[in-house]
Amino acid sequence: MNPLPLTAPAAALAETLTGDGLPAYIYDLTALDAHAREIRDALPPHVELYYAAKANPEPPVLRALAPYVTGYEVASGGELAHVREAVPERPLAFGGPGKTETELRRALELGVERFHVESEHELRLLSSLADRPVDVLLRVNLPLTDEALGGAALAMGGRPSPFGLDPDRVERCLPLFTPDGPLRLRGIHAHLASGLDAPDQTAVAAGIADWTRELSDRHGLDLTEVNVGGGMGVDYLRPDTRFDWKAYGEGLAGVADRNPGLTLRIEPGRALTAYCGWYVTEVLDLKHSRGEAFAVLRGGTHHLRTPAAKAHDHPFQVLPAADWDRDWPRPTASGEPVTLVGQLCTPKDVLARGVPVAELRAGDRIAFAMAGAYAWNISHHDFLMHPKPGFHYLGG
Ligand SMILES: *Cc1c(COP(=O)(O)O)cnc(C)c1O
Repeated sequence: MNPLPLTAPAAALAETLTGDGLPAYIYDLTALDAHAREIRDALPPHVELYYAAKANPEPPVLRALAPYVTGYEVASGGELAHVREAVPERPLAFGGPGKTETELRRALELGVERFHVESEHELRLLSSLADRPVDVLLRVNLPLTDEALGGAALAMGGRPSPFGLDPDRVERCLPLFTPDGPLRLRGIHAHLASGLDAPDQTAVAAGIADWTRELSDRHGLDLTEVNVGGGMGVDYLRPDTRFDWKAYGEGLAGVADRNPGLTLRIEPGRALTAYCGWYVTEVLDLKHSRGEAFAVLRGGTHHLRTPAAKAHDHPFQVLPAADWDRDWPRPTASGEPVTLVGQLCTPKDVLARGVPVAELRAGDRIAFAMAGAYAWNISHHDFLMHPKPGFHYLGG
């Protein structure tokens, strides 16, 4: 496995962290800046880029992305207040299922620019609360078949789902947009899949845009916006590969050409921030059990739940530590597969299973890569009451 090594500044910082300074999250905001710039440059200028804050809402991360994104997608009242404070004045799109009345009121007060509405009930609730004009995108659970996707070997959306509206239910919502009511239907939102490559993502975007234009034409709606969601692929087993943003940008340019008058918007999370973070820790113990090697790390899945959530072996790099000042032999694994576990008293606390290492010893450090998205913020921090990791933001 290619580990996606620490950047030079992150490696230099990792060198200085020892003992209770570990585990630590290290974010390289300079690397994030370069990555976000590359993505923005690959997209046609008129395609809007929103960042889905749920991937990583740390304020320095939100601020580092600010030069490159049009706005932010938030999916709760908590994210809404948090993102408004971290990056004031930036457009927000408020999505997510189960919005409460309190959240909707707050979103109206805070002047949220776009509401992604998930159901007819939510639309009626929003309408009853709105005391100002409100721009709405209806979220649709579109069935996109192989045929609609131009032969791509995919079929997505269209299955029973708690997210969004079935297409026929979209039509039933249309009468709720009345000329003298507060709601204005601006367009359609869909977030149908994750982990797709650029050609498949392009096909999905094309399918959503075509459907939106047809809906608009059929009902004379003058829809002007389509948000085709996030989900751009991030491959944890091949950390050195990246989603092909150039190809996707070219694909979106084609979709935009075929749909004049429709503003295209995307809202990736993971593919923007996954690569800029590392979770660095140390090997507390290295033991053999019935022929298998286990490295017990300081920390665990209560800090980095990603491998448990995705059921994968998380990519890591060994940072050897030369010093061993105990007067007994150093626990070591050599040229054999090692399972990396955390400090939690549960067999589920596994970060990587049976991964071959040249050498791993107690006291060596481990840097887990691709820990910049869906990592710390999806983890169950308080389970077993171990200390929280340190947080370090480099550059930016
Ligand atoms: C989670 C989510 C995203 C971001 O998905 P990624 O896989 O992180 O790109 C975008 N839009 C919606 C509606 C989401 O729920």
